[in-house]
Amino acid sequence: MVAGLGSWALLEDRRAELRESFDLDARVLHRVLSQRMEQQETVLNAVESLAAQGVERRTLGGYVKALIRPYPQITAVEQCTSAGCEALTPLPGTLPVLPFTPGGSSRVRWPAGTGTRYALERGRIRVWVEARALLPGADLPPEPMTVRIYRPESRSVLAQREGGGRPAALTFLVEKQLGTPLEPFPILFQREYSWNVWPWTTFLTWWAFTALGAWTLARGLTARRRAEQALLDERRRAQGIVQASTDGIVVLDPQGTVMQANPAAHRILSGLRVGEDVRQVARFRATLAQAPLNTARFWQGQEGPTLPDGTALQRGLERVLIGGSLTPLLGERDQLLGRVLTVREVGPLQQRLLAQLDAGERRIREHEALLAHVSRLSTLGEMSAGLAHELNQPLTAIVSYGQAGMRLLGEEEPDLAPVRQSVHNMVLQAQRAAEIISRLRTLVRRAPAQRVKVDVVQAAQNILTLCQADLNRLGVTVETQFPATALVEADPVQVEQIILNLIRNALEAMAGLPEPRLFLGLTPAAGRWILTVQDSGHGLSGEILPYLFQPFHTAKRDGLGLGLSLSQTLAQGLGGDLVGENGPTHGARFTLTLPQWTPDDSVA
Ligand code: ADP
Repeated sequence: MVAGLGSWALLEDRRAELRESFDLDARVLHRVLSQRMEQQETVLNAVESLAAQGVERRTLGGYVKALIRPYPQITAVEQCTSAGCEALTPLPGTLPVLPFTPGGSSRVRWPAGTGTRYALERGRIRVWVEARALLPGADLPPEPMTVRIYRPESRSVLAQREGGGRPAALTFLVEKQLGTPLEPFPILFQREYSWNVWPWTTFLTWWAFTALGAWTLARGLTARRRAEQALLDERRRAQGIVQASTDGIVVLDPQGTVMQANPAAHRILSGLRVGEDVRQVARFRATLAQAPLNTARFWQGQEGPTLPDGTALQRGLERVLIGGSLTPLLGERDQLLGRVLTVREVGPLQQRLLAQLDAGERRIREHEALLAHVSRLSTLGEMSAGLAHELNQPLTAIVSYGQAGMRLLGEEEPDLAPVRQSVHNMVLQAQRAAEIISRLRTLVRRAPAQRVKVDVVQAAQNILTLCQADLNRLGVTVETQFPATALVEADPVQVEQIILNLIRNALEAMAGLPEPRLFLGLTPAAGRWILTVQDSGHGLSGEILPYLFQPFHTAKRDGLGLGLSLSQTLAQGLGGDLVGENGPTHGARFTLTLPQWTPDDSVA
């Protein structure tokens, strides 16, 4: 199209140029021929005026001869009378027959037929003009041009000059009238140009130029299309790989919002939705054997890209062992475009290994529990012996004082003074017994405890996992309200021991009751973490409530009444406390307070 438009513009330019030159030539030629006609008329007027003055015929003949010499088209000049016309100059041939009719004004006379001669008449003078002789010798333009003078009315050709019969690529044509008063004959100018008038070299250059341009453009476009296609293919391949991957792949924006996820990701992280925060479904926890996982730091990419071995995904009530990583996506200038989370469920073999490990760990724990129980029993045995020995004295004393008191009161007129003394002694002996028991508690408190960084969330979850079988058996609905982590400075075994005691008691209190519910919540408060354990059991009875934390107070047939007492002692030994009360509506609520762990503490 560009080539066509350019060629058209070039053609138009050349056409305009040729037209201008043609118009100029036609104008010039028109003027020359018009002048030539006027000269004929001038000759006519001059001869007629001489004749009218009565110049003698011979003299007139000589004069005419001289006068017409420069005009080859004037072939004869005649003087007419009513008898006929006679030539004033010698004739080169015969003149056509043209009867004379006298008349005053100038006019053009045409002999019969279609000859090329005609006569101009004025008065008695007649000038014969050979139209064919009008054109040769005229100042014709250098370029060939067809010129035709027509006879008016009949439009037969009077004179013509051909411009050459070349095959015409372009024809210009204009018709005018000769500008004389007597002979305003139609005159046609025509010029024909052959193909070689066009600027072929310019055309060829232009075409070559546009072809080169078009070729370059086409090459560029093809290259671009190919590059785009390659990019599309590449993208499709990448998409294919992502879609086909058995690993879950999730593309996140820098804030952690899901932008894209493959089918495996939707399968592993059930409930995953594009446009929502990935953390709502990707809840990672360290399993029993692991140190606590700081999920907040992990999501900020500060925990290293790979999830530690043994990380579990909390999927509803179920926990699945998974592996994976969080890789930053960096832009050209190293700016963070987002992150890619990959997750995979750890293979069945590893799951089995984990289960075995768990089972092994559980067995060890059970064994430990058994040992602790046995050691508790043996301690208890020793303690009982000690207690028996220690308490025997005050108790024997109380019994004897009591019996003495009763005997004294049984007398007819009892003397109250010795009775009062006996009762006073009984009180003293009972206080001694209480002191012995208090010393026992102090003994327990002195047990050496470890002080390390402990995640209470982790500890509580470990215990829930341990009690899972019992929870399932009793159909307990467990509700937890935990932060990501709750770090305290404590002995991990002791913390777990306390939580285990609270959960065991809760389970025992709910056994056999409909719709058992257990709530565990963790809230921070002024440098402390507060763990609340609330159940929907029968609650704390009025008898037990005042002695809840006193050793050997139990409402159970096979209970020892040491769990809560020991737990409180442990909690206080860790710088915290344990309190118990009845829930607002029903059930019991125990609150364990432990001091928060602060990073500048010199503990591990
Ligand atoms: P034991 O469990 O051996 O009796 P504890 O010191 O653990 O010893 O408990 C003391 C008593 O406190 C229990 O016998 C029970 O009556 C009461 N108790 C403890 N926890 C609860 C609870 N969650 N709901 C109701 N009563 C409880």
